[in-house]
Amino acid sequence: MTTLSCDFGFKVEEENRYEVEAKMWHHAIHDHADMLKSMTIEQLTQWLMGKDKQLGDSLAIHQEVEFAASPNRIYEVLTDAAQFSKVSGGAPTEITPEAGGSFSCFGGMIVAP
Ligand SMILES: [Zn+2]
Repeated sequence: MTTLSCDFGFKVEEENRYEVEAKMWHHAIHDHADMLKSMTIEQLTQWLMGKDKQLGDSLAIHQEVEFAASPNRIYEVLTDAAQFSKVSGGAPTEITPEAGGSFSCFGGMIVAP
């Protein structure tokens, strides 16, 4: 479900985020035309950023995991094929340790050319 609301109490809630955006634009143009015409580019930018934040809040999944290890240790495990394979349950792993290098993790389910 995606929700958008304006500062004047108008609220749209639908499954389809594009329908939500379309209804919000329709509302803004029809009911806030004079205000929109009087707004500067800077004010419109702020408004659009607020709209994106609302959409982001309703769509994003945010997850944080804490590891009892140093950042260097985590980096080492993520860039070493044998260690990565071990922490991913023995799944076949290929990792080119250089920046931008290719990799194949979880038995080829996640790959980069
Ligand atoms: Zn409104």
